[in-house]
Amino acid sequence: MITLGIDVGSRNTKLILFDHAKQSILFQDWIATNIDPTKSIEELYDKAVNSLRLSDLDICAKVATGYGRKIWPHADRVISEISAHAAGIAWLKPEARTIIDIGGQDSKVIVLDDQGKVFDFAMNDKCAAGTGRFLEMTAMRLGIEVSQLSDLAADADSEIKLNNTCVVFAETEIISLMSSKVSAANIVRAVHLSIAKRIFSQMSALSHQAPYTFTGGVAQNQDLANCISIELGAGLWIPPEPEITAALGAAILAKQ
Ligand code: ADP
Repeated sequence: MITLGIDVGSRNTKLILFDHAKQSILFQDWIATNIDPTKSIEELYDKAVNSLRLSDLDICAKVATGYGRKIWPHADRVISEISAHAAGIAWLKPEARTIIDIGGQDSKVIVLDDQGKVFDFAMNDKCAAGTGRFLEMTAMRLGIEVSQLSDLAADADSEIKLNNTCVVFAETEIISLMSSKVSAANIVRAVHLSIAKRIFSQMSALSHQAPYTFTGGVAQNQDLANCISIELGAGLWIPPEPEITAALGAAILAKQ
């Protein structure tokens, strides 16, 4: 039995084909979300079925999640990202009790019970602080790629604090720090510390507990993961490909 999970995110669209008999991932890939998200979905879908020489009839069920989940008319069902992340992590790391997910435009903290089911959650999709957008703005201002931020911050030699949590005001502050010759490494570390504090305060209303996991595209940033871990006072487990967790969960839940 093969099912499909698609996560149509604000930045990236991810697709998973899951084989329930073998309990394994048959196909996984992602592309940047097109201005017309159905184009990204169809491109990934064609790639998946063509590379495995499948026909549409081989796929028993298709479940969509993510910000653009209602866009694809061929989905049998749509589910929330909260349910999708929970199911993905319950499969990847069954002992996990708290998920911190940071994507391009939102951040979520999901607390799981000992069955891997959602017990409680907190979501921020109103403010760019604590999301990938803050990192994108920082990289753009420094003239580097988002993927270079972690290595750069690892060279920081001083912990400076940003006064502004709002990304719009933080951008002005970053420009001012650059003109004061504060090193790029110290600026990026300051942004990471600011995001870590923001996530920690988002968690304060929840009775979260270890083991903690970190998912979403932003979880590829190891220096930020270290900052969150220090703020939490606990380790974070990061899946090898943290951005595909929700698509994986959608594919797993498609069996229902
Ligand atoms: P969405 O589901 O909203 O599309 P993703 O979970 O795909 O978001 O994450 C996208 C975010 O991940 C981008 O905003 C970017 O900041 C961040 N990102 C992508 N690649 C990297 C990387 N190599 N290192 C750090 N951050 C990254």
